[in-house]
Amino acid sequence: MPAGTYLRWTAGSWRLVDFLGAGGMGEVYRAVHLQSGQVAALKILTTSHRSPSFVERFRNEARILSTLQHPNIAAWYDTVETDGRPGIVMEYVTGHTLEHRLQYGALSPGEALPLFATLCDAVAHIHDRGIIHRDLKANNVKIDEQGVLKLLDFGIAKAADSPKLTTDGSVVGTLHYLSPEQVRGEPVTPASDVWALGVLLYEMLTGHVPFRGDSFTVVMARILKGAYEAPSLHHAGIAADTERLIARCLKVDPKDRFLSAGVLRDEVRRLLAPPPLLNPRAPWHRWSLILSAGAALVAGTFVWRESQRLCCAPAPLPVVPTPAPDPAPDTGILRTGQTPSKPERRSVVIKIFEGTAEVLRNGAVIGHTPFTMDAPIGEWLDVTLRQSGFEDLRQRFQVSDGPNEFQYTMQRSSLPSAPPRSDAGAASFSSGTP
Ligand code: ADP
Ligand code: MG
Repeated sequence: MPAGTYLRWTAGSWRLVDFLGAGGMGEVYRAVHLQSGQVAALKILTTSHRSPSFVERFRNEARILSTLQHPNIAAWYDTVETDGRPGIVMEYVTGHTLEHRLQYGALSPGEALPLFATLCDAVAHIHDRGIIHRDLKANNVKIDEQGVLKLLDFGIAKAADSPKLTTDGSVVGTLHYLSPEQVRGEPVTPASDVWALGVLLYEMLTGHVPFRGDSFTVVMARILKGAYEAPSLHHAGIAADTERLIARCLKVDPKDRFLSAGVLRDEVRRLLAPPPLLNPRAPWHRWSLILSAGAALVAGTFVWRESQRLCCAPAPLPVVPTPAPDPAPDTGILRTGQTPSKPERRSVVIKIFEGTAEVLRNGAVIGHTPFTMDAPIGEWLDVTLRQSGFEDLRQRFQVSDGPNEFQYTMQRSSLPSAPPRSDAGAASFSSGTP
């Protein structure tokens, strides 16, 4: 049966309106709910995979996805059946796959590391539930139009209660991301996903995977030896500690790697944290001292600051609708033939004076305070800070040319004895548009 056969079919309450692509086991469609009009992605088992073991594998994917709830994992909505085939209805993720994005070249460390931290957080979520993904690769990661990363495709993921889906000694997964133990057909552990995450970070930073070769045999031999070229040979600007982090993920012996994605994520976040004081002569220094001294009183106060110093720089990924010969990764929409001018960028530091707060954009955690991000001048940033014991604090402000400081006070969560919120939104800033 040719791909796209189920176009305009109805599965449960969903009408299949667009064919999105075919994968190893299924075809994926954009679907619309007949009553509510809600849009979703519907993955349906293809005809060629109708054998009981494929049906079981497909059901395993649906079961695993339905247990997960994370802002960086495409959410499960429903499991349906049509034409005797199971289908998984899930969040429709717009944008492009990471693989597509990397065709335009590597990401800067400032773009790659925060995205990678969110990917590790998604994988940590599944590891915490005893699940191993086993197929982490650039093609299974999408970056939506808001720049939020979403992990897709749990087609070969394995939970403790998953049925025996493969014969012992058989290899599943995608060659370039396979760990040495997977190549040898040995049991996988969360450390096997950590290996694949190391391959992905290498790929994000250099534009290509670390283990390459003209044939399967060559690639497998390199994987088994853990033989790859240092990423900094391919791309200047990759810091030594980032390179060490990749090397630890790509240790041949799984026991020498970060043992789970959660441990790796914490290490990535540590790399992302800016130094405590960026410039002792800047007014920022005085603010820090004043506010630090008053920290006991202003428990939830945080400051964000724009400085002219560029630091590690997360920026929303570009939306790249069509191949462009000379992409500029940190500009907006690129179109073929267009030569975008590169807007000047400023770094924005978000700091909190007691404890640590999560920093969210578009509902997804992008890091923890102290947090530095890089954005073009003129861009409006909409950031939420979340700290337990306090109300979420959402602020929108525009990145301006000169150095700026905005200061706000987070409100304690409403408790019967909470003081009146007289200081809500208390802000101090010298310029810019908060
Ligand atoms: P593969 O084995 O090729 O990875 P998948 O089943 O994961 O197959 O996906 C097939 C295609 O459908 C891919 O192009 C993928 O990006 C797209 N796709 C899968 N899930 C979604 C989703 N939730 N939202 C949007 N597109 C999706
Ligand atoms: Mg896939």
